[in-house]
Amino acid sequence: MLFLVKVGKDLKLKFMNFKRLLYFPAVLFINFLYAEPLLVLDSGHTPDAAGALGVRGIYEVEYNDRFVAELKPQLEAIGYQVVLTRTPEQNISLQQRARIANQLNANLFLSIHHDSTNERYLIPTVVNNLPAQRTIEPFRGFSAYISNKNGSPFSSYCFAENLTKQILPLGRLPALYHADPIKGENRPLLNKEYGIYRYDNLAVLRLTKVPAVLLEIGVIPDEEDEAWVNNFQNRYNMQQAIVRAVADYQDNCIKPYLID
Ligand SMILES: [Zn+2]
Repeated sequence: MLFLVKVGKDLKLKFMNFKRLLYFPAVLFINFLYAEPLLVLDSGHTPDAAGALGVRGIYEVEYNDRFVAELKPQLEAIGYQVVLTRTPEQNISLQQRARIANQLNANLFLSIHHDSTNERYLIPTVVNNLPAQRTIEPFRGFSAYISNKNGSPFSSYCFAENLTKQILPLGRLPALYHADPIKGENRPLLNKEYGIYRYDNLAVLRLTKVPAVLLEIGVIPDEEDEAWVNNFQNRYNMQQAIVRAVADYQDNCIKPYLID
């Protein structure tokens, strides 16, 4: 009988017969917990604090929940155990999200968000009697964030690079406007080509000890970008890019992982 047992940060293969397992309930328990690599998948915001408002009057949390629900089975299909930080109805804190990843000693933590812009580029509108907002000029693309205060900053950066390397071939461009020298932005760009920003005090990244990335999928007050993220095939392509990045993570990021 073949088992994967987690020793430190590595998954080790162990051969055991069933009779022997009866004498090692602790091994059985560890095997149960860590038979598969584990990714904690976080849908940003909550029903009560729903995040950015989009061009169709729908709040960010709904986009995040839909994306996460679609992504989860795709990650499970490549052998990952996926734990969600919250269900769509659930209100939880940022600290609780990080705690889940830390307590499970997850291999990866990925937080899914949808983006907005600085207030100066937004104007209020009404769509189907719902308050909405739209951008006054185009703001499009994805972006990834890591924190240097995270417990595994090198591996987090490596994971972010893996993600963006897979997303760029979809024809999707990085959103670079968060680096603009204006109040509320000024985010340091670690990699302009890949749209990777450093945001040290983002709570879910700062409080996680395991490699953690926050990914903005698209800009929902922008009419064209909202239409892009609202298209099933586009989302599937983006989700498959994430799946490939996660699948490559153990191979591509093992060295940075060890020096964290
Ligand atoms: Zn958000």
